Amino acid sequence: MTDLQRSKLLVTRTLPQLSQARLDKGFDGVDIVQWKEDRAIPRQEFLKLAKGADGILCLLTDKVDAELLDAAGPQLKVVSTMSVGYDHVTVSELEARKIALGITPGVLTEATADTTVLLVLSAARRLREGVDAVIQGKWGTWSPTWLLGSQLTDKTVGIVGLGRIGVAVAKRLKAFGVQKFVYQGTRPKKDVEKEVGGEIEFVDMDRLLKESDVICVCCALTDKTKNMFDYAAFSKMKDSVVFVNTARGGIVEQDGLVRALREGKLGSVGLDVTVPEPLPTDSELLSFPNCIVLPHIGSGTLETRTAMSEIAIENVLSGIKGERLPHPHDA
Ligand code: NAP
Repeated sequence: MTDLQRSKLLVTRTLPQLSQARLDKGFDGVDIVQWKEDRAIPRQEFLKLAKGADGILCLLTDKVDAELLDAAGPQLKVVSTMSVGYDHVTVSELEARKIALGITPGVLTEATADTTVLLVLSAARRLREGVDAVIQGKWGTWSPTWLLGSQLTDKTVGIVGLGRIGVAVAKRLKAFGVQKFVYQGTRPKKDVEKEVGGEIEFVDMDRLLKESDVICVCCALTDKTKNMFDYAAFSKMKDSVVFVNTARGGIVEQDGLVRALREGKLGSVGLDVTVPEPLPTDSELLSFPNCIVLPHIGSGTLETRTAMSEIAIENVLSGIKGERLPHPHDA
């Protein structure tokens, strides 16, 4: 193959070991340029390294918009993000330029659903306060009234976004004795009861907010879901509610959440995602003992991250060759 036929692949971070070893070995006819520092590629560097790329393998930390696509140039065929969410990508700009977009659906469903359940139980059972009490020497003698949480038995759980992760969360929570699930989305779905293993009803948002003992946010971040949970929404919830967001920080209007927490309107909160990320350590959100924040580790298992990076590689290589992606965003 002459140099003129070689392709350029930009990879914006070091990948999990197995996938990184594949990159290090290389692919026929592909020149790989990689940002290998363990921090997000700085914007200027991204714009510079994208120039002349035929394929870009990026992460949710890397904004892919018109400016980046212009910097890359007209030869760019594919953007492959190592995530299922693609709110960091301006899809209309890719479509206008006929650039394919690959995502990593399915392989992160179980890990992210596990994290959602982890946060539901941690928030409901006041894990943060318990751990803090032990560390700070505030653990007194066993008390029948100290650190009482709530349990899922016979409760109603509201799922906002009953997609792959939403269903996997419902299936898991069913095992904790949940009596009823309600859900919200753009359309009611058929046959979910069989999958979930219990009653699950499509309801309007007002009903979901008012009736749910636990609310799990599992939807995509879109123009419609941005800031969907604001102060008004929190004010409609039960004051004992367990509110958990493992989807995207932007779905919650964070000042409204802080205000609701400050006013004692919420039972407990568990977040894996915030705005911004990382959340500054002086954020008021961190001052509430009934709010647990994780550092966006929903899909963070070795198995899952490896499966994600493998799919991201397959997507980008297919795109560079001009083939249909195994996992396009619009499948
Ligand atoms: P999915 O199967 O595509 O599900 C997305 C869901 O969003 C769909 O069920 C859709 O419901 C719902 N949705 C879209 N617009 C909505 C609206 N206006 N109101 C309510 N629901 C709406 O995707 P998934 O694999 O389950 O992933 C879901 C999201 O989780 C991703 O987009 C990503 O942002 C996030 N995520 C986070 C982590 C993490 O590390 N914390 C890991 C993986 C994924 P309809 O079908 O009814 O439209």
